[in-house]
Amino acid sequence: MKFENSLSFAKKMDRQDPLKSFQSQFHFPVINGKRVLYFTGNSLGLQPIATKKFVSEELNDWAKWGVEGHFHAHRPWLYYHHFSKKTLGKLVGAKPSEVVAMNQLTVNLHLMLASFYRPTATRFKILTEAGAFSSDQYAFESQLKWHGIDPTVGLIELKPRPDEFTLRTEDIVKAIEENASELAVVIFGAVQYYTGQFFDIKKITEAGQKAGAYVGFDLAHAIGNVPLQLHKHNVDFAVWCSYKYLNSGPGGVAGVFVHEKHHGNTRLPRLAGWWGHHEKERFQMKKGFVPMPGADGWQLSNFPVLSGSALMASLNVFEKAGMKNLRKKSELLTAYLQFVLTEINPSERYFRIITPSKKNERGCQLSILTHANGKKIFNRITKAGVIADWREPNVIRVAPVPLYNSFEDVYRLGEILKHSLK
Ligand SMILES: *Cc1c(COP(=O)(O)O)cnc(C)c1O
Repeated sequence: MKFENSLSFAKKMDRQDPLKSFQSQFHFPVINGKRVLYFTGNSLGLQPIATKKFVSEELNDWAKWGVEGHFHAHRPWLYYHHFSKKTLGKLVGAKPSEVVAMNQLTVNLHLMLASFYRPTATRFKILTEAGAFSSDQYAFESQLKWHGIDPTVGLIELKPRPDEFTLRTEDIVKAIEENASELAVVIFGAVQYYTGQFFDIKKITEAGQKAGAYVGFDLAHAIGNVPLQLHKHNVDFAVWCSYKYLNSGPGGVAGVFVHEKHHGNTRLPRLAGWWGHHEKERFQMKKGFVPMPGADGWQLSNFPVLSGSALMASLNVFEKAGMKNLRKKSELLTAYLQFVLTEINPSERYFRIITPSKKNERGCQLSILTHANGKKIFNRITKAGVIADWREPNVIRVAPVPLYNSFEDVYRLGEILKHSLK
């Protein structure tokens, strides 16, 4: 497709966009009477208009039924964790039994590592990308210490080659092979939060498992953003949060994936709670934990229905739009953003896009590495009505989200940025 950096071209693209109507299904912040240009769906997704209705239904049912809402609510609370399974399964490429919504992301990461990180005297290392999201770094570091292992010995963090910003798959595979006998877990952020790189899940999983390690992914920046095939790619486990691309609201309920091949393995140790106990006898309050088969067996607590209802509202929007359609638009929209950014930045004079330019190596986010005055530029575009996101020391992240961003938004961002560079 031949792009043009013009308002008329952007408007033409919007007229041809089959998902155009979804923009009006979201609330946009308004600052000084003007709708903002929202490019931070990678940090907190916008609120679907339908969310209020879903949450109100639970409030009404609570008022009407009290505790009996567990059985008589529209969506009976007792079974609430079942209701999101089908859509979550589609989003990550899994069977419904392999996924469950629960807790928060970092909590889930610890729960998964409690099961899959079982270091021995010889096989005790965790291999991951350097510069992972802080919470993941803290989780890995504290897991190692929890098992009495020095993190400087037990944690392998892969850095890009000198003068490169993203990791090459071949280098990841090589590092896995070189450390094969010592690896317990290989874990990556499926889409790297800082660079926007979408890692090759299939190849990393193959290499990690060939080395004898379990392989997991943090999907915080991947779910609802890129196509995923966790079951087919044989990934052992994954975790995600739902307030970024999934638009479930601040602190929304997170989730996990556990591959079916582990469901029958009752020897896999886990940290347990009553909601993971077999549903049929959960309320018998008996001694002796018997896990539910599937990902459900990793649940600890009863389901957070109020935040879960916001997740239901948002998944409903995903069902209507369809992940295939969203990805198709997303590839085009991000390619357009890349084009516009290149137009206003001849010979990379002001900045460099560090996100890979191949569409299968990225989601919708582009990370802009500024050469100088990055924070100043960022403050200027913020003042002009753009909500983007600043990452120390010098990166501006922008994420055009196919559900609610338009080609016109992208064009306008380009104009504002152009005037803020000089
Ligand atoms: C957003 C994000 C988190 C946040 O963790 P919470 O437990 O949801 O607060 C953690 N890891 C990654 C990779 C993230 O992108």
